[in-house]
Amino acid sequence: MRVAFLGLGIMGRSMAANLVKAGHEVAVWNRTAGKDKDIEGARSAASPAEAAHGVEVIWMCVSDTKAVEQVLFGENGAEASLAPGMIIADSSTISPSATERFAARVKARGVDYVDAPVTGSKIAAEAGSLIFMAGGDEAVLGRLRPLFDAMGKQVFHMGATGKGQATKLVMNLQIALIFEGFAEALTLATKLGVEVERLLPLVQASMVRSGVVDYKAPFIVKRDFSPNFPLRLMLKDIHLALEAAREARVRLPGLEAVEEVYDLAAEEGQRDLDYAATLTLLEKWAGVEVKSAA
Ligand code: NAP
Repeated sequence: MRVAFLGLGIMGRSMAANLVKAGHEVAVWNRTAGKDKDIEGARSAASPAEAAHGVEVIWMCVSDTKAVEQVLFGENGAEASLAPGMIIADSSTISPSATERFAARVKARGVDYVDAPVTGSKIAAEAGSLIFMAGGDEAVLGRLRPLFDAMGKQVFHMGATGKGQATKLVMNLQIALIFEGFAEALTLATKLGVEVERLLPLVQASMVRSGVVDYKAPFIVKRDFSPNFPLRLMLKDIHLALEAAREARVRLPGLEAVEEVYDLAAEEGQRDLDYAATLTLLEKWAGVEVKSAA
């Protein structure tokens, strides 16, 4: 298929590269120039409008709601190149209500909109094994199948446009709370003199085991807090979830407590580190470091 891929960050560059590998004709664009280098086989475009010219699908993966709005409707935005029959798919994690507004605006131009945020982080983006949670028309999702297959291993259809984003917020709510539990457990264990090497196999053998622990434990043991999922983006998702909860009059006391930890970590300069770096704040408060003997 002819695809414009907009946003070549940690996730987007691998997703675009996997589309090229699967034989699709891909035009790529990134706000900051230079990130399109070494996506071999892709055509580089100077603006979203140029990338989107003549394509069947515009796929986005940018930071936040404002970024999606700019890429679509800002100066030289993709809107200038919209034509009836096109599909816009968005793998950024953004506001569900803004997604509905964006979809309504392009619908007037005969363009379908699918929100398709992802889970799996950097490793799954590279491996082409992302999991998509999609909102939109079933038939439109069907037309995107070859692209989903090139970038991911599963697509969950969550309902109408906007429901993919709503789902993503409740997924990240769980990831933030599960990781916080893991990080607090590691900190207390260390303070109480239990070695991480002895604790981790027990966690893995028990009902505490989780995908979050599977993914993060090897990085923690190596004390590698380079960003797979930057803290600033998890904090953005915590804010989005709390905002959606307030609109729906739902109380989330656990997430509110975790928000405070992330706010403090951000103030300490950890915004661009992985969100796993929040562990180091707990360690500082406890006066310990979770260390591997190896
Ligand atoms: P990232 O590495 O920070 O990349 C963000 C991308 O958005 C960059 O291409 C950036 O361009 C672009 N961008 C930011 N503001 C923009 C603006 N105003 N106009 C145009 N482009 C703009 O982030 P990422 O990790 O790839 O994440 C992208 C999205 O996927 C986010 O919504 C995130 O929450 C979601 N997500 C991430 C993960 C993960 O594990 N990393 C997992 C699931 C979902 P520049 O290069 O110019 O800064």
